[in-house]
This record gives sequence, structure tokens and C-alpha cells, in this order.
Amino acid sequence: MTVAQKTSTKLDVPGHGAVEVPTGLFINNEWVPAKDNATFEVVNPATGKKLVDISHASDEDVDNAVKAARDAFENTWGTNVDAGERIALINKLADLLERDTKIVAALESLDSGKGVRMAATSDVPESIGCLRYYAGLADKVAGQTINHFGPDRFAYTLQQPIGVCGQIIPWNYPLMMLAWKIAPALAAGCTIVMKPSELTPLTALYICNLAKEAGFPPGVLNMVPGLGKTTGNAISHHMDIDKIAFTGSVPTGRAISVAAAESNLKKVTLELGGKSPALIFEGSDLQQAANWISLGIYFNSGQDCCASSRVYVQDSVHDEFVKLLAANAKAAAIGKPEDDATSFGPLISEGQRDKVLKYVDSAKQEGANITTGGKTWGNEGYFVEPTVITDIGQDMKCVREEIFGPVVVVGKFSDEKEAIKLANDTTYGLAGAVFSKDASQVQRVAQAIKAGTIWINNYGILSSRVPFGGFKQSGIGRELGTAGIDAYMQTKSVHQNLGEQLEWPL
Ligand code: NAP
Ligand code: MG
Repeated sequence: MTVAQKTSTKLDVPGHGAVEVPTGLFINNEWVPAKDNATFEVVNPATGKKLVDISHASDEDVDNAVKAARDAFENTWGTNVDAGERIALINKLADLLERDTKIVAALESLDSGKGVRMAATSDVPESIGCLRYYAGLADKVAGQTINHFGPDRFAYTLQQPIGVCGQIIPWNYPLMMLAWKIAPALAAGCTIVMKPSELTPLTALYICNLAKEAGFPPGVLNMVPGLGKTTGNAISHHMDIDKIAFTGSVPTGRAISVAAAESNLKKVTLELGGKSPALIFEGSDLQQAANWISLGIYFNSGQDCCASSRVYVQDSVHDEFVKLLAANAKAAAIGKPEDDATSFGPLISEGQRDKVLKYVDSAKQEGANITTGGKTWGNEGYFVEPTVITDIGQDMKCVREEIFGPVVVVGKFSDEKEAIKLANDTTYGLAGAVFSKDASQVQRVAQAIKAGTIWINNYGILSSRVPFGGFKQSGIGRELGTAGIDAYMQTKSVHQNLGEQLEWPL
């Protein structure tokens, strides 16, 4: 006989002592172990040591979560309730998250390796802001009246929630990616079956207790941690999930699209990777450009889909810019996540660290110059130094592929035309940036770069109020802004007869 797994455990959280944290599956507002009692380990990336065992949702568990979500969608959520109820609950969840900022930030830091100060001042407040933004939008989405048919007929449209949504999120911003997904879905009236990354499930599970405390009806938010190839695969193939929203790598995005096509043609939105170019023209404030590029590539230790990972600088200012960027790389506040002084922590896993170091090796072999960094840092955990690579060629692996670590490649251009050509020489199209003091030039370049987000004389700024998503292979659809809630709604057109008589036969 197998002994049922516990669904919570004590975990030592820096600054908080032993904290009871959920480790089970959250289905229909209840904590349950996986049906087959399977678990997986979660590791602290700053030490490489195990933190806790988490339940691993099987196909059967996913199916139970979908049943709960379907029941809630048909009976207690969606079009069954006034939007005011959804608004109150989402705002209440935001309030509870604000109340628990310190413990959530500490858990996020422990699980993902990001500095606890960064988690408390960026990840948690941004997530709260996203919830509140979509709470505010929940009763602003409306259809159209189309009355251009004379007296006998008119038509209108309804914006209705899509239904049960599968949401699969990555490990780089575990809480923020959760907020970007659940806030618009809940506001639209959808119900959710979410899989957090196997590497970072702790804050997603914590949020479920807050959702229950806030008073969300059972089945509205379900959390099924597990591996991508098992739990994620069960979600993407499920016949009763109406839409899937995914953030992560291009190969996984492609696999999810195929699964959706092969099952019930569920709607798909994808937010995938990038190799985002930044163009720095002569006459720019080079120190400011170096600071923004450093934020773009070293924030979150470079594990960012819109990282400023590919920089091209006009010949005349290239060397000076590289000096400033390398100085910033050396000055990064690298250290233990639990120290308030740290803004640059370890990479998420041994695998990710090794992958990043392999790109540095391949750059050397292909003849690039490692100007600074390129090595591991400290004696434990998965740290990699902030790295600058110069003397690049367009065909090098480090220039073409997403590294997803603190590694920026820097090349040169001679004029605007060449700069734009280099910027667009990629299969990705998530973001791009231009630094210049010429007001017409920044507009020309912003229009020419083929990417979903462009920064002019800054980098990396995102807001819940502004849409975000990719051109080319960086994704399908948009998150955030009003586009974010539209992605969880579908338009129904209604034609009404006001007296028109039909003669038969025609
Ligand atoms: P990934 O494999 O795309 O994982 C993202 C999410 O998808 C995780 O929850 C993952 O689960 C799940 N998943 C994996 N295979 C799946 C499948 N066949 N069906 C359904 N879900 C599946 O990304 P990763 O392995 O964590 O990281 C690899 C690379 O992805 C990174 O090096 C980076 O280039 C890119 N990435 C991009 C972003 C972004 O923001 N765009 C974020 C993270 C990573 P498991 O964690 O359990 O495998
Ligand atoms: Mg993975």
C-alpha cells in the first residue's frame, strides 16, 4: 500500500524561519496529492541543495482539474456572475498578495535565485499591479451594436469568455508570469488549469491559498505542478481545454501548437524567446546607453525573453561604448539572493549554467573576444559572471541563438541602413531598441525593426497597460494592455429580426 503524500511541508525561508508551504496539487479549492503519489524535487539554485518535494500531476490529475474548471465555468464563474464580483475577488487577491509581499518575495528568491530585494520591489509589486489593472478592465469590455440595416433588422456582438484555459509558465519570472496569465483570464471570466515550471512552483502554490482566502469559487483557479513532457503535455492535448496560453522556448511553443492542432484545435497564444537587437548611434549619451543595456542584459541574470542580448554600435563610438559596458558588467551586484545588496543572482539550474557556458566556449572557438566575464562565480550554486563578447560575426552561434543568460554580444555598423539590416537578421522578433539623439532617426529605426516592442533611448521597460508579444518566431498574440483581456474572450455576433418576412421558395 502506498502512503498518501502530504500536501504541505515546513521549509526554512531566509528571514522567516520555518514556514509551512503547500506542496500538493490545488484542485477545486482543495489540496490533494498526485493520484499516483509521484513527486519531483525543487532545488535552491544558489546552493544546488534540495528544498522540497512537490506533487507531480498525472494525466488523471489534470483531467480532474479540467473537470473542476469546467464545472466552475458553467455554473459559478464566467457569464454566470456580475463582473463586479470578479473585480472584487481579483482586487482582494491583489490586497492579500500585498499583505504577504515579504514572504512571497522571500519564497520567490529562494526558489528562483533572484535577489530578495528585486523580488520585493519588482516581481511582487508588478504582479499586484497586473491583477489590479485587469480587475479594472473586467467591466469595460463590451460588444458593438450594428444597426445599419433599415428598420427590420439589427445586429450586435457579445464579448464572451473563451472558457477553460490551460496556462503553462516558465521559471524566469514565476510570479509575474502567473499574474500576466491569471489576471486577464479571471477578469474575462475564464477558469484556469495552470502548470508552473517544474523548477519554480513555490509562489504559484502559495498564491492558491491566497485565492482561496480571497473567496474565489472552487474550480476557478487550479494548479497542477509537474514536468512539461507529462503534465504540460496532458494540458496541451486535453480535449476539454478551450485555450492554451504559454510562455517559454520556441521548441516547446511549437510542440504545444502541434498538440492543440492534433487535439481539439484549442486557441493558442505563445510568448516565446528573443535575440533582441539594440542599435547605438554616434552622438548618443553612451553612459546612459551602457546603463540601459546593462539593465536589459543583466537584470534577472539575463534570464529574460526580451534581454538586450545583441548590441550593434556605430564604428566611431564602438570602443568607448564597450569600455563602459564592460565596466558595468564588472560592477554588477552579484551575490547571495537573500542579501539585500544583491541584484544579480545565480542562473536557475545546473543545466542552464552549463548551456550558457557552452555558448561562451563556442564564441571563443568561432573567434570572438570575451571582453569580460565568461566564467562561473563562487564555490556553490549556478552563478555565471556578467559577460561581454565582442568581435562577433553574424553566423556565430552566440549571435544567432538565444543564450538566456548574462551574455551580451556586441558588433559594429557604419550607417543606419546597415544597422537595420543587422537588427533584422534573426528569426526572432520580440523586442529591439534604438539609442540616438536624432529625433527623425529614432522614429525611422523604430518603424523598421521587425519586433513587437521597441525602446527608444531606454530598455526593458514593461507595463501592464502596454501590449507585449512577438513578431516572427517570438510568438503568437499579445499579453498585457487591453489586448491581454481580448486574448481570453471571443466575439459572438447576434442578428435579430425586427419584422422582416421571408418568402419561400427563394
Ligand atoms: P520550456 O521547456 O519552454 O519550458 C517552459 C514551460 O513549458 C515549463 O513550464 C515547462 O515545463 C513546459 N513544457 C516543457 N515541455 C513541454 C511540453 N512538451 N508540453 C507542454 N509544456 C511543456 O523552457 P525551459 O526548458 O524551462 O528553458 C529552455 C529555454 O527556453 C531557455 O533557455 C530559454 O531560451 C527559453 N525560455 C524562454 C522564456 C521566455 O520568457 N520566453 C522563459 C523561459 C525559458 P518544465 O519546466 O516542467 O519542463
Ligand atoms: Mg524544461
